[in-house]
Amino acid sequence: MMNTLNKLSLNNEKVLIRVDFNVPLNDQGKITDDTRIRAAKPTIDYVLSKGGSCILMSHLGRPEGKNPKFSLSQIQDKVSEILEVPVIFAEDCIGKEAQERANSLQNGQVLLLENLRFYKEETKGDKSFAKQLSKLGSVYVNDAFGTAHRAHASTAVIASFFQKKKVLGKLLEQEVSAIDKVMNTGKKPVLAILGGAKVSSKITIIENILDKIDHLIIGGGMAYTFVKAQGGTIGDSLCEDDYLQYTKDLLALAAEKKVQIHLPIDVICAKEFDNDSNSQIKPIDSIPEKWMGLDSGPESINKFKSVILESKTILWNGPVGVFEFSNFAKGTIALGEAIAESTVNGAFSLVGGGDSVAAVKQFGFQNQVSYVSTGGGAMLESLEGKDLPGIAALRA
Ligand code: AMP
Repeated sequence: MMNTLNKLSLNNEKVLIRVDFNVPLNDQGKITDDTRIRAAKPTIDYVLSKGGSCILMSHLGRPEGKNPKFSLSQIQDKVSEILEVPVIFAEDCIGKEAQERANSLQNGQVLLLENLRFYKEETKGDKSFAKQLSKLGSVYVNDAFGTAHRAHASTAVIASFFQKKKVLGKLLEQEVSAIDKVMNTGKKPVLAILGGAKVSSKITIIENILDKIDHLIIGGGMAYTFVKAQGGTIGDSLCEDDYLQYTKDLLALAAEKKVQIHLPIDVICAKEFDNDSNSQIKPIDSIPEKWMGLDSGPESINKFKSVILESKTILWNGPVGVFEFSNFAKGTIALGEAIAESTVNGAFSLVGGGDSVAAVKQFGFQNQVSYVSTGGGAMLESLEGKDLPGIAALRA
């Protein structure tokens, strides 16, 4: 059984929390998107409200050794502003200063440690580094979904130094529950929408989810490999020729498992990979030579929409067009609108993994779906059916 925060007494405890404060910074060291800090707030607030103190540890970027450009001191003020409490900073994540600051921490206080990745031992999952970190706190909480798929010192190895007092943070709890709602306990019909550029990067996901879903919409760049394999003409559209046979096998497997596959019917194709390119609507299997499909056409959108509105559980991973170009974003926006409508009607909708999250945020749907995942790689690996090291370590 997985332990959660509310199963522990936190009064007088020094709670060591692995957060994901790997936020984007501009050239002046200013945060351009503070979502990840806000996402950790419920756990931190909870610990403080129960009479504990918080020691926050995170990585930032990929520094090679100590480098001020990657110092977490740059985000100290922002963390304090979001948490609405003063934040103490330790200029190292292990060693004398960090230990002293942790020792003298009072209930209700928050300490932020310097970047964990200033030590290569962090990503190597070094045991003695993990042990030094573990000495800073009396309870270990993992709330960093963004790195839960990594067996790093602070995300997984450290848990073995806490006998029972190791738990999921509130964010991780939400992520795990959202995945569970889609993969295990979702109300039928369950629909997965997969888009994005490549079939090859989604193979393990498709194979894993075929046992869990009733409908699969395949859109975006990855659809053309399926269409070509079935004898369609796709012009210069994205295609992975090495995967033609694979897509045929997959369609057969889906039929065996009674999963209905929905491919686009028509597409908006362009002469060049450019927002201002000439464009025309064509059936997906007869795209003229030298033209490429960049967005879902109106008939595809209608078909996708009706499947979405009939579904009670929806997973969306990957845009169904080049949404970064405003002239080719209509399909992705229409999909978001349909998912929002289905959610209002009672469906559970999870958006996860990479570019669909970016699309949802760009077009303002994040509050109209049930859950938007905070982890790219971690969400993809969960959908692939893998047990994430950061979560498994809390069970041991
Ligand atoms: P992925 O990282 O595999 O989810 O792919 C996301 C990328 O796929 C986005 O940058 C989209 O612009 C791109 N994409 C979606 N549809 C197409 C398409 N029809 N042709 C080319 N790229 C596409």
